[in-house]
Amino acid sequence: MGKEPYIYTGMHIPKEYRGYPRSLLDIVIIIEEIAARGGSPICNALLEIAGLGTATIVNGGNEEQKKKYLPPVARGEKMGCFSLTEPGTGSDASGIKCRAERVGDEYVINGRKRYTSGAHVSAYIILFAVTDPGKGARGISAFIVPTDTPGYSVLEQVKCMGLRGHQDEELLFKDCRIPKENLIGEEGKGLHYGLASLDETRTTLSAGFIGLARICLESAVEYAKERTTFGKPLFHRQALGFPLADVATEIDAARLLNYKAAWLHDKGMRHTVETAKAKILATKAMLDAANTTIEVYGGFGCTTRYPTERYYRDARIWSFAQGTPEIMKFIVTRDLFGKYEM
Ligand SMILES: Cc1cc2nc3c(=O)[nH]c(=O)nc-3n(C[C@H](O)[C@H](O)[C@H](O)COP(=O)(O)OP(=O)(O)OC[C@H]3O[C@@H](n4cnc5c(N)ncnc54)[C@H](O)[C@@H]3O)c2cc1C
Repeated sequence: MGKEPYIYTGMHIPKEYRGYPRSLLDIVIIIEEIAARGGSPICNALLEIAGLGTATIVNGGNEEQKKKYLPPVARGEKMGCFSLTEPGTGSDASGIKCRAERVGDEYVINGRKRYTSGAHVSAYIILFAVTDPGKGARGISAFIVPTDTPGYSVLEQVKCMGLRGHQDEELLFKDCRIPKENLIGEEGKGLHYGLASLDETRTTLSAGFIGLARICLESAVEYAKERTTFGKPLFHRQALGFPLADVATEIDAARLLNYKAAWLHDKGMRHTVETAKAKILATKAMLDAANTTIEVYGGFGCTTRYPTERYYRDARIWSFAQGTPEIMKFIVTRDLFGKYEM
């Protein structure tokens, strides 16, 4: 990538803010290749730095915010994180309770957040908080909270079974005051900007899932060629070969669907439903691949002698990130029955 050393962290950032923009189709190809070389935690960290920590500012922020916060991320000097999930709510984003109350020229924030990836190394937080209680999704706003703001603290690290190269945190906001200028876009539109960002980052996340599925499949195929039972290599057994054929099929189908979502994005078209469908399939491909690979390796597949157990742990935890398969199915169902009340 020549003279552009920070291209990965700047790939979602427009050129005018010192980014190295790539099409979403390019990005999903890059992400899949990183994950397919065993880099699921690296890949996850990259998704957060490059995508989740910047997309809401790109989508909803004003010129001043973009000029201030995006260039240091593009240069690889700083990162931001995305804080929506709370102890009381994950899938139901409109049910968050963290409160941002306007007092004079400031917002005063009180509440807790859970599962904010990379908060401990972030310079700022993209925070979603309630500005207008009782208005549900339309009462939520997005803010930029610098992590050196008094009243903000990291309560604890959430320890996960996999993706150990990446870290999630529980956060506390106690009378944390930020200037009104740190509101992103308009009051009440926070979730709108956040969900638009997720359309983009879910597409790149699915590419990571597909990459992890690929490395599982490749290692299962290699092992099935070498390992013999009852005088024959394992690949002679259809009981193992057919599930691997299913996984190979799911990987290709998920990739094509995900490419479609990325292509629509690059054409400036809405792709919420295509992204949700791709994520459903990519999640299934990843979980089936990780599970089938353990099956092929037998008992040794669950030991630390092989990376298969790490793939399995990474896949299991990763599948919940940025909206579970059930929530993706909810998006697709809503599209099917859109004109009816759901
Ligand atoms: C690796 C990782 C990184 C993450 N990073 C971040 C981050 O940086 N920032 C952030 O804000 N969040 C982050 N999250 C949180 C993530 O977005 C949530 O875990 C996810 O949205 C699900 O919420 P929950 O875990 O609270 O599950 P819940 O919402 O409590 O759901 C529990 C179960 O019920 C199912 N379910 C829920 N509602 C329905 C329904 N209506 N119909 C059918 N089934 C349903 C879900 O699919 C799930 O299986 C991360 C999660 C992971 C795993």
